[in-house]
Amino acid sequence: MSLKDKVALITGSASGIGKEIAIEYARAGAKVVIADLALDAATATANEISQSGGIAMAVAMNVTDEAQVDKGIADAVAAYGSIDVLISNAGIQIIAPVVDSTLDNWKKMLAIHLDGAYLTTRAAMREMIKKGNGGAIIYMGSVHSHEGSPLKAPYVTAKHGLIGLAKVVAKEGAKDKIRANVICPGFVRTPLVEKQIPEQAKELGITEEQVIKTVMLKDTVDGEFTTTHDVAQTAIFLGGFESNALTGQSIVVSHGWFMQ
Ligand code: NAD
Repeated sequence: MSLKDKVALITGSASGIGKEIAIEYARAGAKVVIADLALDAATATANEISQSGGIAMAVAMNVTDEAQVDKGIADAVAAYGSIDVLISNAGIQIIAPVVDSTLDNWKKMLAIHLDGAYLTTRAAMREMIKKGNGGAIIYMGSVHSHEGSPLKAPYVTAKHGLIGLAKVVAKEGAKDKIRANVICPGFVRTPLVEKQIPEQAKELGITEEQVIKTVMLKDTVDGEFTTTHDVAQTAIFLGGFESNALTGQSIVVSHGWFMQ
């Protein structure tokens, strides 16, 4: 499936990885829908894409809110005619050991990553099935979909959960040519990661430099961060893949941190 003229809705695409995916999808000819909690930033991203010749619109969407998700998908379909690719990417990070963590933060994390993935999947799949042209669903997992790390219990739990959802959606979606896969990036220097460097340094009693070297990049093959471009290129590959041969899988993009 070429991405030319396809409609891709990307959650959490006002910033970081999602924003880069939106920019690179638009460059590949897709019409992109920037769905984010932060409408001002989403509009700014959509304008940036339009000004460089792409086609983009912004929708306000809290992915944990059923009505907002359904409305955002409906608005995208009303404007562009279909949803061909869904990239469920919105996410947050909260750093705390289990013993000092709160139930509220646990629920918030699971809601954004798992309720968000479920609600957007359901709404997008309904449109894909109605349209009858198949589609691609891509979940933004993490190396933490496969590995655990201290201080990240709810995040690691949620990211593992996405693999289960992708496997079920791959099986249920197959007859309608809907594929579901998970991208599992290593550390990427986005606002989400910049925020946790000092937080981890404080929790672990080490310097920020040590967090980068001895925690984040310790198990990579070359001590390098993954980039938003690396992740966006993987999303282009998965979104444009032609058949059900590649479905229900996770692809780790991490400079070798965690080899499957
Ligand atoms: P980011 O903070 O730069 O961007 C996250 C975006 O999600 C923001 O625009 C934010 O407004 C939006 N968002 C947050 N809650 C939302 C909600 N309830 N509804 C709609 N939008 C919401 O972060 P990022 O690093 O680009 O992360 C994107 C995804 O990639 C996340 O799922 C994250 O877990 C995953 N990821 C990031 C890394 C990394 O190292 N940065 C590594 C692996 C996976």
